[in-house]
Amino acid sequence: MSVVVVWTGRHRLHEPGGEVWVGVRTPGTELPERAERIRAELAGARIVEAREQPDSALLAVHDGALLDYLSRAWSDWQAAGLDRDPGQDRVVPYIFSHPGLFSAGVAPVDPAAASARAGRFAYDTMTLIGPGTWEAARAAAEAAITAADLVLAGEPAAYACVRPPGHHATRGAFGGSCYLNNAAAAAARLRSGGAGRVAVLDIDAHHGNGTQAIFYEDREVLVGSVHVDPAAGWFPHFLGLAGETGAAAGAGANRNLPLAPGSGDEPWLDGVRLLSEWAAAGGAEALVVALGVDAAGGDPQSPLEVTAAGFRAAGRTLGELGLPTVLVQEGGYDLDTLGPLVREVLEGVEEGLA
Ligand SMILES: [Zn+2]
Repeated sequence: MSVVVVWTGRHRLHEPGGEVWVGVRTPGTELPERAERIRAELAGARIVEAREQPDSALLAVHDGALLDYLSRAWSDWQAAGLDRDPGQDRVVPYIFSHPGLFSAGVAPVDPAAASARAGRFAYDTMTLIGPGTWEAARAAAEAAITAADLVLAGEPAAYACVRPPGHHATRGAFGGSCYLNNAAAAAARLRSGGAGRVAVLDIDAHHGNGTQAIFYEDREVLVGSVHVDPAAGWFPHFLGLAGETGAAAGAGANRNLPLAPGSGDEPWLDGVRLLSEWAAAGGAEALVVALGVDAAGGDPQSPLEVTAAGFRAAGRTLGELGLPTVLVQEGGYDLDTLGPLVREVLEGVEEGLA
């Protein structure tokens, strides 16, 4: 395989310790083994270590307040003794600065209590913070940016084999197992490195709400997503519908293609083709693929039914755009098929680019 793979072992520092879903601590599926399985599948590929990046590379897509919070959330939690009393070994929010709390002109204050602070930045209870979460999340973003640098330096395609995933993280909030938006950071680097217009195409089974939010008013970053219909009862539930098409200068630069639960190769690949044609017609000069493989039939996290052949065909379609291409790992939770499905997409991209 000729696609260069960017890797960081620092992902292992993030042990989510499960999720709190409907108030119950469950084992969760965003496990360190995910990245290890993919890496093992790609053992013969060229591997490049993720390079450290300055804060400015993260500030291109995130608020400083979010970065500051994430960098000290765990130490604040520990300093407040919450890991001993009541004995919660991960940062879990309990109150949220919901917009309905505030009258016009009243802004949320930074809460004094560590137990409350998470609710200023988290939008769900499933995205827990432990001792190594910040370092791992930062390493994932740095890997995606490194992949962008490799493509800017002339690699036809580079794949960032990362976790935690990123496409649910917005400019100022985290959730959906995501802390920093890796794909958005890669797109920002492609832009600052000279690409006039960048397309981020998200083929994860779930809507890339974070990436959409970050670039919603930006006409130079086209954001397209094909995903299971949130209106049919799927994460992120509150948005991700076809009517969300961008705003202000970014009007028309966002595209959502929600699919019915149970959709398989044909409607899904139609979606990938439509997004690719849309990106080409929109003048994209570089491509970021938010590469989740949880649309697979056997994945426990989504009701889509895409096959291995479907993933390969999607890769080919994306490769046929002929653009410098950064692929960033998002979801995919069936440990036995995760690696092979990623390989199908990467080999498809190679075939398409050739
Ligand atoms: Zn997903």
